[in-house]
Amino acid sequence: MTLDPKLAQQELAKVGKDGLAASDLIDLKGRGGLTYNDFLILPGFINFPADNVSLETKITRNITLKAPLMSSPMDTVTEVDMAITMALLGGIGILHNNCTPEEQAAMVKKVKKFENGFITDPIVLSAQHKISDVIAIKNRLGFAGVPITDNGKVGGKLIGIVTNRDIGFREDTDAELSTVMSTDVVTARYGVTLAEANQILRESKKGKLPIVDESNNLVSLVARSDLLKNRDYPWASKHPQTKQLLVGAAIGTRPADRGRLEKLVEAGLDLVVIDSSQGNSSFQIEMIKHIKETYGSKIDVLAGNVVTRDQAANLIAAGADGLRIGMGSGSICITQEVMAVGRPQGTGVFQVSQFARKFGVPTVADGGISNVGHIAKALSLGASCVMMGSLLAGTTEAPGEYFFLDGKRLKKYRGMGSLDAMEKNDSDNSGSQARYFSESDKVKVAQGVTGAVVDKGSIKQFIPYLITGLQHSLQDMGVPHLSELWNMVDSGEVRFEHRSAAAQIEGGVHDLFSYEKRLYK
Ligand code: GDP
Ligand code: GDP
Ligand code: 5GP
Repeated sequence: MTLDPKLAQQELAKVGKDGLAASDLIDLKGRGGLTYNDFLILPGFINFPADNVSLETKITRNITLKAPLMSSPMDTVTEVDMAITMALLGGIGILHNNCTPEEQAAMVKKVKKFENGFITDPIVLSAQHKISDVIAIKNRLGFAGVPITDNGKVGGKLIGIVTNRDIGFREDTDAELSTVMSTDVVTARYGVTLAEANQILRESKKGKLPIVDESNNLVSLVARSDLLKNRDYPWASKHPQTKQLLVGAAIGTRPADRGRLEKLVEAGLDLVVIDSSQGNSSFQIEMIKHIKETYGSKIDVLAGNVVTRDQAANLIAAGADGLRIGMGSGSICITQEVMAVGRPQGTGVFQVSQFARKFGVPTVADGGISNVGHIAKALSLGASCVMMGSLLAGTTEAPGEYFFLDGKRLKKYRGMGSLDAMEKNDSDNSGSQARYFSESDKVKVAQGVTGAVVDKGSIKQFIPYLITGLQHSLQDMGVPHLSELWNMVDSGEVRFEHRSAAAQIEGGVHDLFSYEKRLYK
């Protein structure tokens, strides 16, 4: 007997879909707030390959990334290496502010200098400068390709170029550059497109292409190594015009932070993150207004942190371009214990994201992400991106040295509200103190702990693992494009289910005598 193919669908229409719509899952009357571990997503229909799943996402009003991943502004997570590598791999790094404004601006500059299209402010010297000047540039900035002009500046007449090969074996570092520079420089005329300039670079086989005007005055520079970076990192998060990597940085809400921000913007900052554990304050509202009035659309503001619609409404009204969600869910965080204030992260993400989406404001789920599944759940509850601390802290690109304890290779990881982190800047009060204390506090109450996490290797392997894992997760849900996920959640097509304590045990590895947990290769 053959079954009428329509019958199963008719029956389904009659009895309805399994599971719950997201709004019923979160239903606040029935139970308390939910964490990521409290629920699961039911499987959907697959008719596309996992590696076709697009993860492209808007993390603020004006910034789009290919991967919904952000590293946390913590001094054991994001400095230059992390920010560069996160951006190369499709995410973005947020530089911490537990340092002086000058140090933080220097970090921004290093990230912005890492990759370029046309380098419009190249380092230039004159023929009278010394080999030692080029060596000093190499030590400070990492490159040695320096155009030489008659006045030693951009805009001067191009008379030569010095590169690594010209100075490599020279011991007389006092010699003038006129004695080592190449003078038969391949150049291109100002007005060429980047694609044309790249073609000239490929054909000439040179490392650098100076761009000059009709009088041979230097206008800019193009580097061959940038072609390779562009080829090797097709997902890189870059500014559409300059091709420089995107970077964010954290600031506080004090008057002094306005000066800090000015330096960061001068250095080329794309995204400012207002770092506050309870973002719904008059200080933050004033800071958002100040930034929007001063810089307009030049930089985007990620405001927060918030976990309720009330908080979100104030920051959206002030002009936030994105909201960061999370209070007390971070792995190093003791806010909920000490202050009794906060919210389980799943509920916070859903409530704020639903509200913020009505105004076109994307959200970032910050804290408590400890595996790929948590990222998928945060996104399915409405977040546009996740921010990670502990998950990235043990990687090669995180600041700090590895050490051994009980035979394990570890890196330090600490809360920015831990006493340890705050003591770093006791003298100038420039850093994370401001996030958790007011200067008048006589007793400092910690909101975070200091600890260690195990070695995870380089994020060059770890982030692709997260991305591929996420693509498979969306495939299982039957969602071919991250941007469709929210519509499918809103329409009730993607279904959810609560997960009892017993279900959580069942869903983990169980009943084995021993096992090895390797996550990727
Ligand atoms: P070099 O051969 O030692 O000059 O270094 P590479 O060509 O390997 O790397 C140069 C990298 O630094 C490229 O990614 C450039 O975009 C970047 N860069 C940023 N600013 C400058 C600059 O002022 N001069 C040069 N030469 N490179 C710069
Ligand atoms: P896409 O890079 O292929 O997505 O195309 P774009 O419109 O972004 O880039 C236009 C041209 O600039 C192409 O020839 C690219 O290869 C090149 N390009 C993109 N990024 C960079 C970069 O960082 N440096 C250099 N020198 N060229 C780039
Ligand atoms: P994780 O990814 O480790 O679970 O959480 C990282 C997040 O915890 C950070 O992005 C930040 O929002 C938050 N955080 C960092 N340091 C502290 C702290 O000392 N106290 C609290 N309450 N939260 C912190």
